Amino acid sequence: MSIFEKFKNYIFLDVESENETKKAAVIMRCSSLFYYIFFTVQAIILFVAGYPRAAIVSIVCLLGYLCAFIMTYQGYTNITQHFIELMTLAWIAAYIALLGWDCSYQHMLFVLLLFSLLTSYQDIRYKAIFSAFLCFFRIALYFYIHSHDAFYSVDKSSINLLTIVNTLATFILFFIISYLFSKDSVEMEQKLVNYNKKIEKLAKTDALTKLPNRRDALERIEKHLKHSKDVDFHFNLAIGDIDFFKKVNDTYGHEAGDAVLVQMADLFRSEMENEGFAARWGGEEFLFVYTMRNGDEAAMRLNDLRSKISHTTFKYNDTELKLTMTFGLEEYDFRSTIDDVVNSADGKLYLGKTRGRNQVVF
Ligand code: GH3
Ligand code: MG
Ligand code: MG
Repeated sequence: MSIFEKFKNYIFLDVESENETKKAAVIMRCSSLFYYIFFTVQAIILFVAGYPRAAIVSIVCLLGYLCAFIMTYQGYTNITQHFIELMTLAWIAAYIALLGWDCSYQHMLFVLLLFSLLTSYQDIRYKAIFSAFLCFFRIALYFYIHSHDAFYSVDKSSINLLTIVNTLATFILFFIISYLFSKDSVEMEQKLVNYNKKIEKLAKTDALTKLPNRRDALERIEKHLKHSKDVDFHFNLAIGDIDFFKKVNDTYGHEAGDAVLVQMADLFRSEMENEGFAARWGGEEFLFVYTMRNGDEAAMRLNDLRSKISHTTFKYNDTELKLTMTFGLEEYDFRSTIDDVVNSADGKLYLGKTRGRNQVVF
């Protein structure tokens, strides 16, 4: 990678926050870079022309924009924005107080307006107030400098040179900011689309086991029921509850219980892969939906799963645990609702518990 490319990647480096576009940060970085050149030129002109105080303002600004540049990499986009706004107001006022109105520093207020309107995450009310404030600030500066003398009485050739430099800088910054703002909208949209997908997935997934949660399970079932008129439609629903799970927590601690739930979920995920899906219904209860088989076949598969669980050794650190599970299975018929099927499966699960656990009741 060439030095130029490395530099470009550094400037266009994304911000850490996933739901924030990098646009504001990139605009601040690029305008800071431009201001390094601008203030270096200012410092040289002002020193040579004999206005040392104004030259010192340029050097202080150089340091200020260096800080702003660094801050955009620390995740402080919003604070940096306000810092730049305040700093710009301060240096425009300082230059005008020192050198007068004719050197054209006031044009930079328009750059500040554009910068704030395009980069800020604030709402429209803030932007309107800020715009009105800038307007007032410009008028106030105008009247102040026309009723007081500037600190230096600047000679005509310096005024001409500074006006050319400042007007050029204003136009170039306008161009840079508008260009950067309109560029990359596709990239920004993609970033937000990915973020939304991630949020959607989180809302549907159980945090501990990574299985679908109850809400997602019900959505999937509703979607599946829309095909209930298809010839090969099957829908069998089971609720399974781990037997004596409280004992695991009481004997080995809650973390051991959590570890068991995660291992159980992994087992369910692989066993249900070609059957339908498993979901976490709540606590140590899981939902099993069979969409590929009739009731009798589903009962057989579920019994295989039950047997597999009872033969599996679950592990937590050095502790090995044997567990069983009880299931209630119900086959959907066209007159029933999802609630009916769930209640019926739940009733059968309860029956299984009273009959001695570790069984499938169908
Ligand atoms: P039964 O055979 O009748 O189902 O007995 P049980 O002990 O499994 O039933 P009970 O409903 O009395 O206890 C369920 C326990 O599951 C209680 C609760 O602390 C535990 N539990 C529920 N969710 C979690 C979890 O996310 N993590 C852990 N570690 N334990 C959980
Ligand atoms: Mg329970
Ligand atoms: Mg239980």
